[in-house]
Order: sequence, then structure tokens, then C-alpha cells
Amino acid sequence: MKEYTIPSEVQSITQELESHGFQAYVVGGCVRDLFLGREPKDWDIATSAKPEEIQKIFPKHFYENRFFTVTVLTGSANPKLSQIEVTTYRTETAYENMRHPEEVFYAKTIEEDLARRDFTVNAIALQIQKSKIKNQNDNVKFKIIDPFGGEEDLKKKILRAVGDPKTRFKEDALRMMRAVRLATVLDFAIESRTQDEIASSSHLLSYISQERIRDELSKTLLSSHADQGVELFCKLGLLEHIIPELQEGIGVAQNKHHTYTVWEHNLKSLEYAAKKGWSLVVRLSALLHDIAKPRTKQGEGENCTFYGHQVVGAKMVHKILDRLRFPKEIISLVTLLVREHMFVYDPEAVTLKGVRRLLSRVGVDHIDDLFLVREADRIGSGVPKAQPYRLRYLKAMVEKVKQDPISPKMLNLNGSELMELLDFAPGPAVGAILAILLEEVIEDPTLNTKEHLKTRAQELGKLSESELREIAEKSKVVAHEAQDRIDQEIKKKYFVQ
Ligand code: ATP
Ligand code: MG
Repeated sequence: MKEYTIPSEVQSITQELESHGFQAYVVGGCVRDLFLGREPKDWDIATSAKPEEIQKIFPKHFYENRFFTVTVLTGSANPKLSQIEVTTYRTETAYENMRHPEEVFYAKTIEEDLARRDFTVNAIALQIQKSKIKNQNDNVKFKIIDPFGGEEDLKKKILRAVGDPKTRFKEDALRMMRAVRLATVLDFAIESRTQDEIASSSHLLSYISQERIRDELSKTLLSSHADQGVELFCKLGLLEHIIPELQEGIGVAQNKHHTYTVWEHNLKSLEYAAKKGWSLVVRLSALLHDIAKPRTKQGEGENCTFYGHQVVGAKMVHKILDRLRFPKEIISLVTLLVREHMFVYDPEAVTLKGVRRLLSRVGVDHIDDLFLVREADRIGSGVPKAQPYRLRYLKAMVEKVKQDPISPKMLNLNGSELMELLDFAPGPAVGAILAILLEEVIEDPTLNTKEHLKTRAQELGKLSESELREIAEKSKVVAHEAQDRIDQEIKKKYFVQ
């Protein structure tokens, strides 16, 4: 009999169920984490009570899925404890298309319920011994139900499939990604038979929905050894079905400013971002920023180049993250950071105008993330030029121009004033005029006076819509070309491709 601390909310639910004549156990990830001394993310309870019976006992609940899980609302202010999932013992028998169970059946015993779980360390149940409900910080006594040797595997830091791994991965192929994710997060090894079976069943991952793949990928990337997780995905043949594009970088050598291949560099950049505890967006950007290098490589040896890899890369990243059904904001932000990661920060070349343009493209809210991506890139190159002062210089300039007009709302003439002045209705012409005014003001902020903008708007207002669009487009292109020209010169000089 062991003693662990357990929240009183969880204790009351199991006791309540037991007092109605049902069995109730604390199970799954929370038991594993409790034994490891990690703080459980959420608490799950398995019970012999049927969903209708659980609902009757706990009037405050919601029940919407068909997997026999009733979410009990405890009223706790702690988000981890305010909702506790109570699930009827179940077993999964019929699997269709190797996707998630199509049909789920009740099981009679906790042992049967544990047998359908994925890994031995996730298949341990605790029965709280009857006592008065104690406070969160008091220890409670448990009886441990551990039919598959999970506790032993926890001690050995081993992740082992419950039952025959081949059958289990065929039932639900996502378990293969869960193995890698849990091994990465917990710093465990995957038991050799389980690992071999992943390697030979990896193709089954292609049956799994992109949403489920995305969630496991994100959890892996958010671990502090994220790079090792990606490496293991690759080694076991799973990456082929997650982000195959990353594998194009394997063995692709770079020029004299890199010691690592493209693949190694991507992993090293991610390693650094993960070590620093940065956000998922920054980690994804660090991993993917050079995704297009293999496709844009020209020449061989120490003088090879990767011109335009950030542009091609941004397109690839958009496609990859869209395929994985990441939320729109994440897709557009990572795409933007990849597109802009080559920004120049050579004090000789950086101009206020250039910094204003960078800030206008990236946005004040995201410029710090861009700097983080660049830092991960620099450290991940293996030969980080010790020039953080350059980045500091650029950061100082960014601070300086943050007050300058870099977005339409900072123009001293807003849309409605413009429409009133020209007697225009809302439409593309108004947008085009504002875009032209902004470009001109980024070029020279002293022009951002109401008087000047009004005069200039009246001039522009005389032009046709197509003429306006052409000028707006041209000024955007000119701005980009100007920046690209500077970028290319710097890159040639410093060979920072
Ligand atoms: P975490 O909550 O840290 O992401 P977890 O192991 O708790 O990890 P959950 O998704 O919360 O994962 O699942 C809770 C439990 O349900 C697991 O511990 C495991 O026992 C079981 N489980 C989850 N997914 C599967 C699956 N695909 N196949 C079999 N059992 C699963
Ligand atoms: Mg969990």
C-alpha cells in the first residue's frame, strides 16, 4: 500500500461512486505522472457505473461524446480540477480502417478496461482506500491494480505496449506517435519489440486523421527534448507520414558557414528553441525555417547557395501546416516568420527605412518572435558568429521606429476622413490610396502630416481605380525589390545563406 497526495475533488468523486455501490479507480496518465513525481495534467476516473448512473449521481456534468465519458463539474477554481472525466469501464473491439474505434463496448472489470489502454505505464489503476476525505496535501492510501507490470516499467523508464504491439498498433495507429511523444516528454526508452513493431507498422499512420497527428506532433514539439522526438519519428519511419518534406534535408550539405547538414541544422535550431522554453510557433518556425533549402540549393561544396529558400519555404510551410489542420493564426504566423527569417542586421546595411519596412511586414506584435527564430537559427548553425551586438543594434532601431507610421492605422489620415475628403464610398480605391500613402510615409515619415496626406490623397483621388491599383502594387514591389537587393548584397558579402 502506497501513499500519495491526491486532490480532494478526485477523492470525493470516487467515494461518491463507491457509496452508490459502484467501483471507482483513478487511472491513466495521472497515475503515471503521480508515480513519476510529475504534476498530473488532468485526472481521470474509471468506474463500473454506466453513463446514466454517473449522470444521476453528479447532476453538474456534461455528456456529449459516445465513448462513455461523463465530464463532472466540481466547482473548483483550479482549471485542472474543475472538470474531471469519469468513464465507464470499456473495451474496444471493432476497429474500422485502422482509425479510432468505431464501436466501443462496456467492460465488466477494471482489468478489462486496463487491457485496452496503450502502454503499460498508462494502464495502472489506483483504488483509494476508504477514509474521511482528506485535504489536498494529505497523503491517501491506495491499492494498486497493475496487471501489466507498469510500475516496473516506470522504474526502468520503459514504454511498452500493453499486449501484442502489432495488434495494438493495427487497432489504432496513433499509438505509434503516442509512444514517441511519451518517450520524448518523459525521457523514456521505447521497449525494443514495441519499437521494432512501430518501424514495421509505420505506414499505418497514413490512416490517421491529420488533426490527431497534429495534436501529438504539437505535444512532442512542446517537450524540452523536442528535437529527439522528431529524430525518433524519422528513425521509426513515422515522419514520412507527418512532415515528409523535412526528410529532404537529410544528408544535404551546406556552405562554409555551416557545419551541419540541412536536416541536422533544423533539429539543432529546434533543440535550442525547446531548451529555451519558447512557444509552439517559434519551435515550428525553428524546425521549418530552412525546409526549402534542399529544393533551392545551387552548386556544391563550400560555395553552394540557397537563394530564395525563405520564399519557397514560406509556401511549403503554409501547405504543410494547412495539411496538418493547424489553426489559421498559427499557419499565417509561422509562414510569416519563415518568409522573413533572413532579415538583414548588418549595421552597415540597416537603414531606418529598411527597419520600418521589416516592422510593417512582420508587425510590432511578432517582431520579437522573429528575433527568437533568428537566434535559434544562428545557434543551430553550429558556427554561431559571436555577433549578438548586431542583433542588439537592430533591436534598438526597431524600438526607435516603433513610433513611426508603419501600419495604416498610424497614418495621420484615416479611412473615413479620406472617404469624406474625396467623397468616395468604401471600396478598393480607398484601400489602394491608403496603401500608397503608407508606402510613401514609410519611405519618409516626415510626410505623415494631415495637410500633406490630404493634398496627396486629392491628387491620387483623380486617378482611376486600375491606375491606383497599379501604383500600389508597384510601390510594394519596389519596396520588396529594394530590400531584396540589400539582402542579396549582404548575403554575397557575408555568405549568410
Ligand atoms: P497526457 O494527458 O499527458 O497527454 P495521457 O497518457 O494522460 O497523456 P490522454 O490522452 O489524457 O493521455 O489519455 C488518458 C489515458 O487514456 C492514457 O493514459 C491511456 O491509458 C488511455 N489512452 C489514451 N489514448 C489512447 C489510445 N490511443 N489507445 C489506448 N489507450 C489510450
Ligand atoms: Mg491525460
